Amino acid sequence: MRIIQRNTVVRLEYALEVDGEIIDETLAGEPLVVLWGHAHELPPGLEEALEGYPRGKFQVSVPAERGVGIHRPEKVSQARLADFPAGSTVAVGKEFLTRDDEGRPLGARVTVVEGEEVTVDANPRLAGKTLAYSGLIHDIREATAEEIEHGHVHGEGGVEH
Ligand code: ZN
Repeated sequence: MRIIQRNTVVRLEYALEVDGEIIDETLAGEPLVVLWGHAHELPPGLEEALEGYPRGKFQVSVPAERGVGIHRPEKVSQARLADFPAGSTVAVGKEFLTRDDEGRPLGARVTVVEGEEVTVDANPRLAGKTLAYSGLIHDIREATAEEIEHGHVHGEGGVEH
């Protein structure tokens, strides 16, 4: 029985559920075709989690540390409304570009607004979350030497050149 491993070409559908809500999925009837081990188009942790799986339905749970990463409390900071640009609406869920300790640009979002006090979280949105994947592995084949050399799939669902 063929299983998913590095340098196989896999055609699959998946849905990603976080906290009971589907946040990402392949379109119905449009499976993704990827070269395993080079499948950067897959969401976090899925490639590693499906290693060794045969064709058929799957359901896997990827813990935060193997997904987007754990939630780091040091990336949560307190600000005041007055720290935000004049005229900007500061509300929960709103994203701002800020700078980290070394001055590099950093995306952060507002998680709490209490009077003048604002809590800002620069963790990725899915940090600390378990990623629940389900879906269907349609088929698995060996990649050709050329596909491995190029790092992508050729033909149906892949690159034509
Ligand atoms: Zn190519």
